[in-house]
Amino acid sequence: MNKKILFALIVVGLLAVSAVSAQNSLLSNNNDDSMYQVSLMQAFMHGEYDGVITVGDFKSHGDIGLGTFEGVNGEMIVLDGVVYQAAADGSINVMSDDEKIPFGTITNFDEDAKIDNITAKDFDDLTSKLDNEIAKYGTNNMYIIKIKGDFSKITVRSVEKQEKPYKEFTEVAAVDQKVFNHTEQTGTIVAVYFPDYMNELNMHGWHLHFLSDDKTKGGHVLNLTDFNGSGQVDEIHEFNMILPTDDSFAKMNFTEDMTNKINSVE
Ligand SMILES: [Zn+2]
Repeated sequence: MNKKILFALIVVGLLAVSAVSAQNSLLSNNNDDSMYQVSLMQAFMHGEYDGVITVGDFKSHGDIGLGTFEGVNGEMIVLDGVVYQAAADGSINVMSDDEKIPFGTITNFDEDAKIDNITAKDFDDLTSKLDNEIAKYGTNNMYIIKIKGDFSKITVRSVEKQEKPYKEFTEVAAVDQKVFNHTEQTGTIVAVYFPDYMNELNMHGWHLHFLSDDKTKGGHVLNLTDFNGSGQVDEIHEFNMILPTDDSFAKMNFTEDMTNKINSVE
């Protein structure tokens, strides 16, 4: 056999083998496919609300994500590299680079798969459809799904900025949570998914924050009605976490099982 033809056959064979081994994963080629997290859910639930890094530093780790600001000063939505605050008074503000973040998650978005049509009658319907989607690729990966479309109604919450000494988050959510019902909205949900084995490092399952297209409404999604739209899926295989450096975190008691408390504020 001609040496060139033999070489070509070997190359084709190797490509076929690599294609087979990758068939069940969305595996993007993006080298920066990493989830970057500030602090951990358990510490946040216990009232660890002091800023760990600045908005400017946080943005250097991605362009899409969610979280909150120092003192739980509203809900954070990061979209297209802009860090928005859904404040407790219902306003949406672009946060400056020197604001601080006690808890948040961000990644560089790259589209690994599309969901062309999603319709959902309510929150549970939407998350179960997202569950079905990621089940194709594996529920032990992390995901961020950017969901765009129309909502006949969306219910979001924000939280009043806390003063020290900080209360536990279940108490904050019970006392200082502001709930807003918006009808006929067009916008984006940033949906973050962590696998069950990461429970207490973050919220396991889905965590959804909303921002309207006109950038006037948003927050942590509590419910929705009649959604119609589409989605883009980013599958993530790497996790980086930075810890608070203060004494209150270093000496915090983590023996309590926080699962029920975390579920109660989702
Ligand atoms: Zn939230």
